[in-house]
Amino acid sequence: MNAEIEETLHQHHIRPTAVRDLIFQAIQYRSEAFSLSDVEEWLPEMDRSSIFRTLRLFTEQQILHEIDDGSGIGKYCVCRCENSQHLNHVHFACTQCGKTYCLEDHTIPLVVLPDGFHMQDVEYIIKGICPKCTKEQNAMSKHLRPFNLMM
Ligand SMILES: [Zn+2]
Ligand SMILES: [Zn+2]
Ligand SMILES: [Zn+2]
Repeated sequence: MNAEIEETLHQHHIRPTAVRDLIFQAIQYRSEAFSLSDVEEWLPEMDRSSIFRTLRLFTEQQILHEIDDGSGIGKYCVCRCENSQHLNHVHFACTQCGKTYCLEDHTIPLVVLPDGFHMQDVEYIIKGICPKCTKEQNAMSKHLRPFNLMM
């Protein structure tokens, strides 16, 4: 087992196990949100319920953020909060490829709530086309131009 991961799990009050170690390894450097099915794909030898339980545990212990990007599929992303508040960051959901990117350097604008309302979590999703899809679209339209001219 990786000593660094073991230490991280301990810090989050999680008892390190082989399964948790493997799942943490698979997710730790992701800069995009992922779903249960994504993790299943990365770790095909692991059963779905173990992955599900581990993702739930990681979320409860604030290793992950759970996000609702409007796709109808529950997604997670790795917590890199520098403060102890563990508030969600801005996400960008690409309507073309379906990927949801973490925009961690973009803080969610503060909304001053009316009296009596207490915030627990906040979801801030920007929808649009990601740089990769924009590039592909541009390449495609360049490719199509001579064809358009003929018409
Ligand atoms: Zn966090
Ligand atoms: Zn995209
Ligand atoms: Zn995120």
